[in-house]
Amino acid sequence: MTTQVKHYIGGEFTPGTGDRVITVTNPANNEAIAQINCATDAEVHGAIASAKEAFKTWKEVPVSERARVMLRYQHLLKEHHDELATILAKETGKTFDDAKGDVWRGIEVVEHACNIASLLMGETVENVARSIDTYSYIQPLGVCAGITPFNFPAMIPLWMFPLAIACGNTFVLKPSEQDPMTPQRLVELFEQAGAPKGVLQLVHGDKSAVDILLRHEDIKAISFVGSVGVGQYIYKTGTDHLKRVQAFAGAKNHCVIMPDANKQQVINNLVGASVGAAGQRCMALSVAVFVGEAKEWIPELRDAIAKVRPGLWDDKEAGYGPLISPAAKARVLKLIEQGKAEGADCLLDGSDFTVPGYESGNWVGPTMFDKVTTDMSIYKEEIFGPVLCCMEAESLDDAIELVNASPYGNGTSIFTACGAAARKYQHNIEVGQVGINVPIPVPLPFFSFTGWKGSFYGDQHAYGKQAVRFYTETKTITARWFESDIPSGPNMTITLR
Ligand code: NAD
Repeated sequence: MTTQVKHYIGGEFTPGTGDRVITVTNPANNEAIAQINCATDAEVHGAIASAKEAFKTWKEVPVSERARVMLRYQHLLKEHHDELATILAKETGKTFDDAKGDVWRGIEVVEHACNIASLLMGETVENVARSIDTYSYIQPLGVCAGITPFNFPAMIPLWMFPLAIACGNTFVLKPSEQDPMTPQRLVELFEQAGAPKGVLQLVHGDKSAVDILLRHEDIKAISFVGSVGVGQYIYKTGTDHLKRVQAFAGAKNHCVIMPDANKQQVINNLVGASVGAAGQRCMALSVAVFVGEAKEWIPELRDAIAKVRPGLWDDKEAGYGPLISPAAKARVLKLIEQGKAEGADCLLDGSDFTVPGYESGNWVGPTMFDKVTTDMSIYKEEIFGPVLCCMEAESLDDAIELVNASPYGNGTSIFTACGAAARKYQHNIEVGQVGINVPIPVPLPFFSFTGWKGSFYGDQHAYGKQAVRFYTETKTITARWFESDIPSGPNMTITLR
């Protein structure tokens, strides 16, 4: 028995009428667990029309009432935290604890959205000219859309719709077709929190649904998170249709290890940050750059990574789960083969790993390469698997040059005991999110998620103040109220008098 995935259109949950079917599978054995009847063109258009209609009334709802919906929502998400994590773990294969983390990092954004009134405060200056005041209001855009990836099916939708909706917009969410049940449950709870019908719409499907959102004149802004090629396509097509677009794309994150760092701290942090979540994190540390003598720690790191054992989502000893799909596994295995063929030193090969009883799952064991060079496929491509590439640099300057030559700029970390080295790194590195003795520096939601270069296309980033700017427009008002003496004659200049 598989579950029927539901769209949420016009305030009604519906299996939809589409005859194009996508099967959702359990990544641990590839058995079917759910089925999506992809939204038809008419259903996507219907969702947009319903969101447009709902915008008329939702934008008039006082900001404190909108905040109260978010307050109830964060409470419900916390109440259903374990249930959400279970749904998420079953469809992604993530371990239960990691699935809880995925949900939690989304809840934190909803907490941030509860503070929307302060975030929407404009600016005022009195007496910009005699008896003239200027002040600004921050107003919503209309219907916004979100297109999300498989790897954080709770956190990433929650980066988007709570803040967009708290700002007064309505929203159409098109989540990944590979794990649609977590977003569906997020939407059910949003309705339960008291969000009026039409404010949030959920349409399932793939490129065909996205293509409508990218071109529809009633969609004002598009948030996307996913792979590089698709991100570029979304950014180009969305902006070509004169929409505001923020597109978060792929990554290749470097960790620089200085010889004065605390060795045990480096090893502990690198194990989780490289192969945790099977490497399927956009902030995973997939390249470790050992500076000088630090390279002597590579064998110990190898031994620590070798101890990580993948397993089922409810196996408390499991370090991580399977990859999301057979296609993802095939891509990672191909890259591992290319790494060997291109001359990297394979210290640990997880290609043949399997879990007894689950041989048909998308398992890849922890894998580690040394002597990786910048011309190798395993360095140039985002592997998105449990594979760590080790490199060596003579000096911090060489390491900085290496990292800055990468086309990506999502995240990076430096491990060191030296403040001056850390300061130099944070100042010179061309990457948007920097950790100092912190392996995965994903900012909390009062900051923004600020990837750079090929990891992000757009201007305003996710959550924090930047998301509020992304989902709103500023209106600046210049006002004069005459008390008496109306000036005589017209003012023919551009100056305020
Ligand atoms: P993906 O690009 O395959 O899919 C993302 C979304 O785009 C899905 O909803 C999918 O249905 C849709 N899509 C796929 N192909 C499309 C096409 N040709 N046209 C229009 N829409 C299309 O990404 P994924 O495999 O689900 O996620 C993994 C990728 O996401 C990795 O590259 C990872 O680095 C990236 N990611 C980036 C961040 C970040 O913040 N930079 C965060 C998480 C994941």
